[in-house]
Amino acid sequence: MTLHVQAGVSLKPFNTFGVAVQAKAFAQAHDDDDVRQALAYSAEHGLPLLVIGGGSNLLLTGDIQALVLRMASRGVRTLSDDGEGVIIEAEAGEEWHGFVLSTLELGLSGLENLSLIPGTVGAAPMQNIGAYGVEIKDVFHSLTALDRQTGELRDFTLNECAFAYRDSLFKQQPARWLILRVRFALTRVAQLHLEYGPVRQRLDEQGISQPTPMDVSRAICAIRAEKLPDPAVLGNAGSFFKNPLVTASLAAELRREHPGLVGYPQADGQVKLAAGWLIEQAGWKGFRDGDAGVHRLQSLVLVNYGTATGLQLLNLAQRIQADIAQRYNVTLDMEPNLY
Ligand code: FAD
Ligand code: NAP
Repeated sequence: MTLHVQAGVSLKPFNTFGVAVQAKAFAQAHDDDDVRQALAYSAEHGLPLLVIGGGSNLLLTGDIQALVLRMASRGVRTLSDDGEGVIIEAEAGEEWHGFVLSTLELGLSGLENLSLIPGTVGAAPMQNIGAYGVEIKDVFHSLTALDRQTGELRDFTLNECAFAYRDSLFKQQPARWLILRVRFALTRVAQLHLEYGPVRQRLDEQGISQPTPMDVSRAICAIRAEKLPDPAVLGNAGSFFKNPLVTASLAAELRREHPGLVGYPQADGQVKLAAGWLIEQAGWKGFRDGDAGVHRLQSLVLVNYGTATGLQLLNLAQRIQADIAQRYNVTLDMEPNLY
């Protein structure tokens, strides 16, 4: 089939901030052949290629002078099963939460803490998505990516992906690797992670003392639904800032000045500070300037009340960064990908 390329397409429905910008050209890739045709189109027309999934980790700051290729490939398959460990492969365009649910329905454990994260399977390795004490690196087997420079396919093992906190090789080399499919090593023998945030408390309240992975997923979905704005209702891209890692001495100094400081010591001696706490203490929670704002329940989440532009959201983010740097001597890095 020939790739269907449209000119001048609004990206408003394709980014969860709901920012209204136009793509010079737009197409959807349903399989590897579509991806190759998109690369050829981009070369022929001298247009850069921007690959997107669900658009839930993007901040679009103006019209996109590129061919925007939305990954829409589908397919989930079991590659091996030894009775206990199972390797499952999913195509890049699979919707992440639907994929998580399909593994839970097969009785497999590993992805339950990553329930209800928006987006696609193909984007998940980009920032090594994480929630409630689990990151995809913990259950990752391997992936296949297309090298946009050479057109060759390459398989990556866990060690080759350079996964780190909200980071990976693919995020570091953004215009090079186009992730086509990802494989996960899951298990029928559940090793649940319940010690993070209110997960165990939520299960206890429901009288569930021996939870299944599906119980954990349901509890996490309920917690998230209470706390996080639904992008279908209020535009947002989840956490706008990463939690900063600071030296133990800076953390101790800050704690003397701010006894309530929320920080988590890391294995390497650094301390991860809760960026949301810093922003809230600085008085930004619920702040609104026009249609760009800070969510009223979760200060790590910037929101678009309707007609905010990407630049207005960026401007708000920069004001918060400058304020936090001045108050606490801490640098906040943005998490969404800016275009
Ligand atoms: P997009 O936003 O479309 O793209 C993100 C980046 O990946 C872009 O740079 C894009 O070019 C690139 N990309 C996309 N697909 C591919 C591909 N196939 N190959 C190569 N590059 C690609 N994140 C977390 O880590 N944990 C959370 O708990 C979490 N919760 C969230 C809650 C909400 C309400 C929202 C809105 C977002 C949340 N996020 C969270 C952020 C986001 O959902 C994830 O980062 C998600 O993986 C992004 O997927 P996507 O398909 O929407 O990617
Ligand atoms: P939370 O539970 O209120 O916790 C606040 C912060 O403290 C989180 O950022 C978390 O860091 C950290 N934290 C909490 N318990 C911890 C522990 N036991 N050990 C180490 N760190 C701990 O956070 P929340 O905002 O409601 O989010 C819940 C989870 O979903 C978090 O893991 C968060 O990262 C994830 N989430 C991510 C996004 C996104 O867009 N990236 C959006 C929504 C939720 P970590 O963030 O490092 O886990």
